[in-house]
Amino acid sequence: MLIDGHGREVNYLRVSVTERCNFRCQYCMPDTPFSWVPHEKILSYEEMFLFIKIAIDGGINKIRITGGEPLVRPNLEVLIKMINDYEKNIDLALTTNAYLLENQAQKLYDAGLGRVNISLDSLRKDVIQKLSKVDALEKIIKGIDKAKEVGFKIKLNMVPLKNVNGDEILDILEYAKQRKIMVRFIEFMENSHANKNLNGLNSEEIKEKISQKYIFKDIGKIGTSPAQRYQLEDGYVFGIINPHKHDFCETCNRIRLSSEGLLIPCLYFDEAQSIKEAVKAGDIKKASEILKEVLKNKPEKNRWQEDEKDNMTSSRAFYQTGG
Ligand code: SAM
Repeated sequence: MLIDGHGREVNYLRVSVTERCNFRCQYCMPDTPFSWVPHEKILSYEEMFLFIKIAIDGGINKIRITGGEPLVRPNLEVLIKMINDYEKNIDLALTTNAYLLENQAQKLYDAGLGRVNISLDSLRKDVIQKLSKVDALEKIIKGIDKAKEVGFKIKLNMVPLKNVNGDEILDILEYAKQRKIMVRFIEFMENSHANKNLNGLNSEEIKEKISQKYIFKDIGKIGTSPAQRYQLEDGYVFGIINPHKHDFCETCNRIRLSSEGLLIPCLYFDEAQSIKEAVKAGDIKKASEILKEVLKNKPEKNRWQEDEKDNMTSSRAFYQTGG
């Protein structure tokens, strides 16, 4: 079992396989970064897997593959298969914008991927275009349909923004409900990389929109998931993720590995240690020591004050840490 310096069990690893993305979402990567990490500087799947094995042996039982956009990295199913072949009882999930999912869904499923979280910020072609800078709606929808068809467990994520897609909260909820998919509304997290003109809807504003049509009750959180869940009268459950609160820090069970090999204990802090040299040298002992050190120093809680708009996450972008 992996225990951090504050006595919390860490069993969840998020692996960012690339910082690159095919979208330019205004809340994440509005412009193409000045310099991408060159391909030769990111860890190979074999190097990532070496660390993942150490993490699994230590007690990690949930792994999420993310990015950037993970599906832009070729042959992702190879990494999925390595993990699945090593340990079948891993809850293995992917977060994606679904643009490339239609063609990849079946081989990812066959390789052992079980769940996909898909970002769906709008059902309007022009809004998706404005938000992501890509005319992507049709492909996203096809990706979601294909993911359902091949048998993935699916969740949808939406980041509601004022004067952008905030008026579509009910539409997205309906879309998800009709397909029996859970949707989670994620409060926009201010960060230095995002477009400066964005304003997110907070939890209360999101609930207010939904209450215009539905009566629902708070049914709390499940396990260590950050989503507060709400149930409509017909039983459908949706979630709201409020990263501005501290309440999920108490049960934080996650660490992140970036594509460059940085082991990041908290999204809100810059502190991280590199496992790159250790895995490149095949030095399992050294990589394990770094993991222990990172866990020991995992911060107790984020530094955000509720209702303060100038709060920031770490200077690292979400496309680098995997969100
Ligand atoms: N490209 C994939 C995708 O679009 O889902 C995976 C990476 S993305 C960084 C992971 C998640 O972070 C997405 O659900 C996205 O909506 C969320 N995200 C990114 N920037 C955010 C921000 N500023 N506030 C809230 N959520 C954000």
